[in-house]
Amino acid sequence: MDLFEYQARDMFARHAIPVLPGAVARTPAEALAAAQQVAGPQGRVVIKAQVKTGGRGKAGGVKLAQGEAQITEVASQILGMDIKGHTVGQVMVSPTATILEEYYFSVLLDRANRQFLAMASTQGGMDIEEVAAKHPDLLVRQPVDPAVGIDADLAAQIVAAAQFPAEVAGQVAALLPQLWQLFVAEDATLVEINPLAKVEDPDGGVTVRALDGKITLDDNAAFRHPDHADLADLASTDPLELRAKQRDLHYVKLDGQVGVIGNGAGLVMSTLDVVAGAGERHGGVRPANFLDIGGGASAQVMADGLEIIMSDPSVRSIFVNVFGGITACDAVADGIVQALDQLAARGEQVTRPLVVRLDGNNAPAGREILREANHPMVQQVETMDEAADRAAELAAA
Ligand code: GDP
Ligand code: MN
Repeated sequence: MDLFEYQARDMFARHAIPVLPGAVARTPAEALAAAQQVAGPQGRVVIKAQVKTGGRGKAGGVKLAQGEAQITEVASQILGMDIKGHTVGQVMVSPTATILEEYYFSVLLDRANRQFLAMASTQGGMDIEEVAAKHPDLLVRQPVDPAVGIDADLAAQIVAAAQFPAEVAGQVAALLPQLWQLFVAEDATLVEINPLAKVEDPDGGVTVRALDGKITLDDNAAFRHPDHADLADLASTDPLELRAKQRDLHYVKLDGQVGVIGNGAGLVMSTLDVVAGAGERHGGVRPANFLDIGGGASAQVMADGLEIIMSDPSVRSIFVNVFGGITACDAVADGIVQALDQLAARGEQVTRPLVVRLDGNNAPAGREILREANHPMVQQVETMDEAADRAAELAAA
C-alpha cells in the first residue's frame, strides 16, 4: 500500500523525523482553516496536492499562497486537478519553509539483489530522475545488509560518499538510522524523502527536514500492523476489490469481459495471457480480472470468488482454470458444484457461462463430478488453450 504524503508526514513525525506541520483539506474553505491552523492568520503556506504519484510540483500541484483570497484561489485550483490520471481530492497545507538546499534519501527493498538499498544525493528536488540518469556519480547507492541495517557507521559512510556539506553532515547521519528504524518497524518496502531539505529556522539555525515523503508498506505484513488498516484509501479502492479483500481473496479488477478464477498466482497470471491471446481471435475480448483462490479451493472460497466475479457487470463468461495439486480436482469440482448450489440458494443465479478446465491430481474424478452435476451453465474443456478460446468466444457472442 502506498501512502499519501500527509500520511507519510505523520509517520515520519511519529518516528521523530523532523517535518513541518501539515493539515489536510478537501475544500477551499477547509484549506483556509488549515492554513490558519498551521501558519496563523497572516502566514504564508504551501498547498500540496495529495495524489499517489510523483511530479506534483512540475504539474502545478504544489503552490505557495498567502492571505485569504490567494489561499482560497490556489486551493480551488489544485483541488479537482488531474495529475497523471489522479484526481486531486485533498490538499495538504503546511507553513512555508525557507529551503536552502534540497537533498534526496531513500531506502527500498532491492528484490533482484535480495537485500535493501539506500540511495542518497545532495542534488535532490524535482529533478532527481535527471540527476540519476545524467550524473549517476551524484546519487550514492549503498546496499544495506538486512541483518545489520543502517547503523551509525553505515550512515557516516553514506553521508561521506554523498558529500553532504559539513554543516548538515551530523544531522543527516543521525537521521538515516532513524529512517531505517521506521522502515523496519513499519514493515515498509520503500521510504523516500525528496526533498530532504536544509531549512532555515526562525532562530537562524538550520534543520534538515523531510518536506516530501513517499512510503510503501508491505501488505503481507499487514497482520502485524492493525493501525495500518486506517491508512487505506477506501474511497478510491474499487468496490469489488474491497469486497474481495474482506473475504481474503486475491482479486484485481481488470477491464475485460472474461472472468478468470484459478488456483495459484502463477497459473492465474498465465491464464490472463492465454485469455488475452485467445481474445484477439474473438473481437478483442480481454480478461476481466485476476482471481487466485489459492491452494485450498473449498466450496466457500469458490462461491465467494464466483459471486465477486458475477457482480462485475462487464463479465460475459467465466473461465475456471484449476490445476489440482494438494487440493485435488475432485475436491475443486465438489467446490464448484456446491458453490453453484449456494449461489442459487441465495438467489444469485449463475447467468453467464462457466468454462471449466480441470487438470492435474484426480482430474478424471473431478470432471466426472461436473458431468454428473450437469449444470446448464457449466461447460468443460480439456486443455487450457481450448478453454481460453471457448471462454473468449462465449464472451464475444
Ligand atoms: P513532488 O513534485 O510531487 O515531488 O512534490 P514536493 O513536495 O517534493 O514539492 C516539489 C517542490 O516544491 C520541492 O522540491 C520544493 O522545491 C518546493 N516546495 C515544497 N514545499 C515547499 C515549501 O514549504 N516552501 C518552498 N519554498 N518550497 C517548497
Ligand atoms: Mn518530492
